[in-house]
Amino acid sequence: MKTYNNFINGKWVTSNSKKTFESTNPSDQKDVLGSFQYSTKEDVVEAVNSAFKAREKWAATPAPSRGKIFYSVADKLESRKIEFRDIITRETGKTLSEAAGEVDRAVNVIRFMAGEATRLAGETLPTQQEGTFAYTQRAPHGVVGIITPWNFPLGLASSKITPALVAGNTVVFKPASTTPLISQMFIELLEESGIPEGVINFVTGSGSVVGNEFANNEKIRAVSFTGSTQVGMELGKVVSARNGKIQAEMGGKNPFVVLPDADIELVVNNVMLSAFGECGQRCTATSRLILHKDIAEQVTSRLIEETKKMVVGNPKNKNVDMGAVIDQNQVNTYEKYIEKGVKEGAKLEIGGEVLNTEEYENGNFVQPTIFTDVKTSMTIAQEEMFAPIIAVIVVDSYEEALQLSNDVTYGLSSSIYTNNLEKAFDYLDNVESGVSHVNMPSIYSEPHFPFGGMKNTTIGPREQGKAGVMFYSETRTLYVKHKI
Ligand code: NAP
Repeated sequence: MKTYNNFINGKWVTSNSKKTFESTNPSDQKDVLGSFQYSTKEDVVEAVNSAFKAREKWAATPAPSRGKIFYSVADKLESRKIEFRDIITRETGKTLSEAAGEVDRAVNVIRFMAGEATRLAGETLPTQQEGTFAYTQRAPHGVVGIITPWNFPLGLASSKITPALVAGNTVVFKPASTTPLISQMFIELLEESGIPEGVINFVTGSGSVVGNEFANNEKIRAVSFTGSTQVGMELGKVVSARNGKIQAEMGGKNPFVVLPDADIELVVNNVMLSAFGECGQRCTATSRLILHKDIAEQVTSRLIEETKKMVVGNPKNKNVDMGAVIDQNQVNTYEKYIEKGVKEGAKLEIGGEVLNTEEYENGNFVQPTIFTDVKTSMTIAQEEMFAPIIAVIVVDSYEEALQLSNDVTYGLSSSIYTNNLEKAFDYLDNVESGVSHVNMPSIYSEPHFPFGGMKNTTIGPREQGKAGVMFYSETRTLYVKHKI
């Protein structure tokens, strides 16, 4: 089995701890992808110092030249799509088509952000002074820390690292410990594409050790985090207390509202995709299905029919609809919510079992699940489950659907299905979510549009799109008296 190293100051190096941890395939625990460095605080300090040393030269490199490197990264990634797809499937348990989608998305986001290098615009304004020219420009922070979760290991690493480097920062990156290989491959791609030494640094290891140093190290001027609300909120407090910049994208509890005039087959297809795609382990997954009473039975019975047909299994097989959840913790979380749902009085219509017959014995497989008779106060209607579980809530009116949509502490994504323009726009105007859709799945987003949530989902500015570069730079105002 191969042992992979940290990447510090342009060199692949082992950790001071001399310890490693393994990355295993969620669909087959006997398949070990490799060993990775169990890094210490000292390793992180070395990585931060390397980024600190490299920051001035990189910031002085013309932005279009920084962007040019990323066009090359995108081309290389595109040409190696199948290799990256297969590792994503092996390391995350996603189906091959879901993994291919993640690679495509990463290519798009890298290309878009590479172009942003030529659009890091400021503004010029008339000044009150004669013979004076005044303008603003965007300046990088210096060293940026990036922490990513396991559910989009390539997508999120690329959508954070690219704008950070394009804007002229240097980076120290810590991937999730369950998916280090795909992240390591991305760093190798950056190295091959000519990123100078010290500009990107990669340190694997536990969130509490490595992440804690990211939070506290004064040389890290900004931290971009995606992950759970609990970790993100704590990180946000520590980084803000030392006046560092923080961007945290966290949990969601996304509503999917269906009104009586909706196209039912479109609804069924999009609920299946949004709730069970990637085993429900997406921050934008449909978790609460809010059905108007007039179509509730029709939608529910069609969903149950479709769910019965789903093939759960090893995602490397092309006929599989749903692969494995990431690890035993996620299996435990799934079981916990099934128990809670039943105990609090929801009706388990289909699913609810961990699969452990012979064909499933080495992997983390669970059944797609639908609960009906769910009340908004129930745990399964309030907490992010991050699992293939749909909580169906029936309402009497559009107004009640809107009110329940907003009756959670999260605010990431939402969808409404109707052809009534007045209701559709009323929903868009009043639903408390950062991304909203009409007649489209809750998981839909494009990399050149901003992405992020309201309420407890997000701290700091949006990711992606033009807005995505903003977090990685700050505005400077410059006055020049040229006629004295
Ligand atoms: P997590 O447990 O919070 O971990 C996320 C990252 O934080 C991992 O790299 C983890 O390292 C690290 N970490 C753990 N403890 C830390 C600490 N004390 N300080 C600093 N870093 C620490 O989340 P997850 O289970 O990987 O991901 C699932 C969550 O991500 C869900 O809540 C989901 O909604 C959210 N998510 C949100 C978005 C969005 O855009 N809103 C997108 C994707 C996912 P280790 O792996 O070593 O523990």
